[in-house]
Amino acid sequence: MKILLNQDELDAGVERLAREINETYGNRPLTIVGVLTGSFILMADLIRKLEMPLRVGVVQTSSYEGTERGALSINSEMMLDIAGRDVILIDDIFDTGNTLQEVTQLMKNLGPNSLKSAVLLLKTGRQEVDWVPEFVAFDIPDEFVVGYGLDFNDEYRNLPYLACLEPADLPNTDS
Ligand code: 5GP
Ligand code: MG
Repeated sequence: MKILLNQDELDAGVERLAREINETYGNRPLTIVGVLTGSFILMADLIRKLEMPLRVGVVQTSSYEGTERGALSINSEMMLDIAGRDVILIDDIFDTGNTLQEVTQLMKNLGPNSLKSAVLLLKTGRQEVDWVPEFVAFDIPDEFVVGYGLDFNDEYRNLPYLACLEPADLPNTDS
């Protein structure tokens, strides 16, 4: 596997995100909603660098099977009450943008005071929606990446770095 971002680079990116969020919100109370499962490591690292009064909730979506897209499902049973709150939605990666678009739509209906989004990664040139998250740590090329929370078939989330999954890493499907 080719390493795209090592631990130091990831740390610096998260630090940058945190600084931008701290500067934007100051001491205003903030509600963070992480999109599971991919954002859990980013969330854990990021929230410890945020300085305002903070509430943390999660919403779960899943769409990929292997490296192929399946139908998107959203489970919002564990989300906090966000009515009247300033909210940031956190995800690992903004690819086509459809996932955050759908979750954003669902959350807007719950009446937050404001709603922005923050992602670790934005895949260049892949967007199918007409907006991008307000806070982005890294732009990356169009490759399938794993590690730092991101999976391939539920594995590799624990890698402390971000790597490109190359054809040679995939299970051999030739018969
Ligand atoms: P989108 O809806 O923006 O196309 O895709 C967002 C979701 O797809 C992310 O939350 C992530 O779970 C998954 N995803 C998109 N690109 C990648 C990738 O390169 N690697 C992995 N592991 N997941 C990805
Ligand atoms: Mg995801």
